[in-house]
Amino acid sequence: MVTNLSKNIVGTVKRNLWTGGIRDLIIDSHCDVLLKLWEKPGRSFYNSPDLRVNYQKWINNSVKVQCFAIFIPEHVPSSEQYNVALKMVDIFYENIVHPYPEIKHITCKQDILDLKHNEKGAVLTLEGCHPIGEDLVKLKTLIRLGVRAVGLTWNQANAVCDGIGEERGAGLSSFGVEVVHVLNSHMIWTDVSHLSYKGFWDTMKIAHYPMASHSNAYSLTPHPRNLRDLQVKELIHRNAYIGVTYVADFLRANGEASIYDVIDHIQYIVSLGGENSVGLGSDFDGTESIIKYLYDYQDYDSFVQLLKRTLSPSLYENVTHENFIRAFPQK
Ligand SMILES: [Zn+2]
Repeated sequence: MVTNLSKNIVGTVKRNLWTGGIRDLIIDSHCDVLLKLWEKPGRSFYNSPDLRVNYQKWINNSVKVQCFAIFIPEHVPSSEQYNVALKMVDIFYENIVHPYPEIKHITCKQDILDLKHNEKGAVLTLEGCHPIGEDLVKLKTLIRLGVRAVGLTWNQANAVCDGIGEERGAGLSSFGVEVVHVLNSHMIWTDVSHLSYKGFWDTMKIAHYPMASHSNAYSLTPHPRNLRDLQVKELIHRNAYIGVTYVADFLRANGEASIYDVIDHIQYIVSLGGENSVGLGSDFDGTESIIKYLYDYQDYDSFVQLLKRTLSPSLYENVTHENFIRAFPQK
């Protein structure tokens, strides 16, 4: 169910605040450019050509709001992981938000609604709880620093839950239950992308604000990172957001995917009832599994034109931004 109230809020935005000639308003729920910037400190967010998301590409495209994930790679020793997470928070502020007056840090739904026509929004997220170890203070600190969506795992196990790549396939630990309760009480999204199957269902039982930032439909492409129909339907039932991702291996079994496969996955989720759930979560700078015609930010505009030609006007609006805004937990 989508309330009239939330529909009206979004409608008001478009009428009053996002005017100024920009008609295509993309919200992208996942990228890993913070990782790329941390890996190579000399890289410039302003214009490094090897970044698929950078300022120069962003300022010229239709992306209105971008989520920036903190992701700590496996090779970082566990004793260092939280420090690295804090470094990525610092990179988010120092390299992305602070240098550019037109980039606004988004911490609640109203921040998105308040964006002016020339402004862009940046949301800080966490991909995998391994950097918090077993310490809820670390989680709460990251939330206080601005994190608004928390992926419980990456592919492997951590103290919270098993990831989808962990053979054991265990669900939420007792600590993981506490983590989700903290996310609930702070009105933070619980991101189920990467979770084990059992972890997904354990999480859905207790999470107040579930979402999947970058996952596709398993029925179309049977990759373990994708969501089974029952999972998609449960997320839809919960009015949760699902960001379709442009990872070739998640879009097509032979890995030879293009923007047309992105549309297929969107339409498949819609066929399960997901017109008020489905959105876009690129995974730019987080994967080498590249698709045709959508390599980076510079290709967004042609992709948007294809979306516009293919989807009904209301579905187009839902997919590109309305579903994300509607689901954003913090008012
Ligand atoms: Zn990921």
